Amino acid sequence: MDTAQSIDALRHGVRQARHDGRRIAFVPTMGNLHAGHLALVARAREVADYTVVSIFVNPFQFGEGEDFLTYPRTVEADCVQLEQSGVDLLFLPEAEAIYPEGPARCTRIEVPELGDVLCGAFRPTFFRGVATVVGILFNAVAPDVALFGEKDYQQLILIRRMVRDLKMAIEVLGVPTIRERDGLAMSSRNRYLSEAQRRAAPSLYLTLCELRDTLRRGAPDRASVEAAGIKTLQARGLRPDYLVVRRAVDLGLPQADDKDVRILAAAWLGRARLIDNIAV
Ligand code: AMP
Repeated sequence: MDTAQSIDALRHGVRQARHDGRRIAFVPTMGNLHAGHLALVARAREVADYTVVSIFVNPFQFGEGEDFLTYPRTVEADCVQLEQSGVDLLFLPEAEAIYPEGPARCTRIEVPELGDVLCGAFRPTFFRGVATVVGILFNAVAPDVALFGEKDYQQLILIRRMVRDLKMAIEVLGVPTIRERDGLAMSSRNRYLSEAQRRAAPSLYLTLCELRDTLRRGAPDRASVEAAGIKTLQARGLRPDYLVVRRAVDLGLPQADDKDVRILAAAWLGRARLIDNIAV
């Protein structure tokens, strides 16, 4: 596995691979890798012949008072896992390589509406930071295909939208959520949970599964399912930011004939904000 720290070194590596006629896949991450990230890498290797992974804890997507400074950084262990997973090139930039004059002075990408709802309503600058850094990375890598986890479902849809709007020639693939044995979606932030909170955490996914079954049985209406879901999460000791039923393709309000529907939720457990979603 080669490692690049500068945009020039990254471009050099990718150029060589492209010159050799290889199809390039790209997996952006913030590191502290777990089986969820590795599932993206495994899928990347199935759909392309040269896999680029980036590890960058993007300061621009963290809001005031969020966990930028304490976000887990485990680069050495990450490198070992990526090497073993057959990654070809790791991009490991310092913030200066991405934002030479700081994020505040950098050209930015905003995705209207999709970036403002659900998680965007509770973290108002989050998706601007995500879209901007992914846009920069997409330009630097110029992959044929990029892979994102369905765990961050709104992010996946938003990136698809950005790629469509900005006419980027990149295929965006979603990869199903990898879970712990008890159903909790794997996440770097799960380590913020105390032992007791960790035991309570699977109830987010459990609640989504129950609501999915209710909807499949022909539930009364969307609003009452959402209200019941919020109550259940609270009863199970979580503090929900939202729990909604949305059209899967664009997160719009589902109409009666919409077949492809998803339930999405975010809820706090202590200082961990858990997000999860499920297809109905
Ligand atoms: P992060 O390092 O949290 O920014 O995540 C990097 C990529 O890994 C994103 O596309 C995430 O959606 C994806 N990812 C994170 N956790 C999981 C998971 N449990 N299952 C599948 N993909 C995941």
